[in-house]
Amino acid sequence: MTVQTIIDRKGNDVATAGPQNTVAEIVKMLADRRIGAIVITGADRRIVGIVSERDVVRVLAQRGPACLEDPVSLIMSRGVVDCSPSEKVNDVMRKMTEGRFRHVPVTVDGKLVGIVSIGDVVKHRMMDLESEASAMRDYIVMG
Ligand code: AMP
Repeated sequence: MTVQTIIDRKGNDVATAGPQNTVAEIVKMLADRRIGAIVITGADRRIVGIVSERDVVRVLAQRGPACLEDPVSLIMSRGVVDCSPSEKVNDVMRKMTEGRFRHVPVTVDGKLVGIVSIGDVVKHRMMDLESEASAMRDYIVMG
């Protein structure tokens, strides 16, 4: 199963913000959209970073509420690991495990076309396992 299958189901919508948006604005976006991460894009809509609820919690613990007025560029992760729509979901799962993150933006020629979260990956893995189990049951009953 490829990343495209996930994009087909959930669509191309990705929550993005600019590097100058404040941490407070990011917190509001995360809460309003009930999501765990926001992709930070530059002027040409290319990915320049990613910020997740973990980054916000870390900086709040370190600096207290004063950090809410900072631009998100101060707390975002750079060097974002992305994937392509043709990549296997299992390979994306490996990237998440090795990089210890739960979000992977999907890009084509450097342009953002979607995002895969660990929840999407687990859901598709379960659907895979269920269809394998049902094929196995059919095989046993028929045999
Ligand atoms: P998460 O598990 O997605 O909440 O993210 C954990 C940490 O990894 C945070 O510091 C994020 O900014 C960072 N992060 C999340 N996704 C990625 C990614 N695809 N590439 C690089 N860093 C990431």
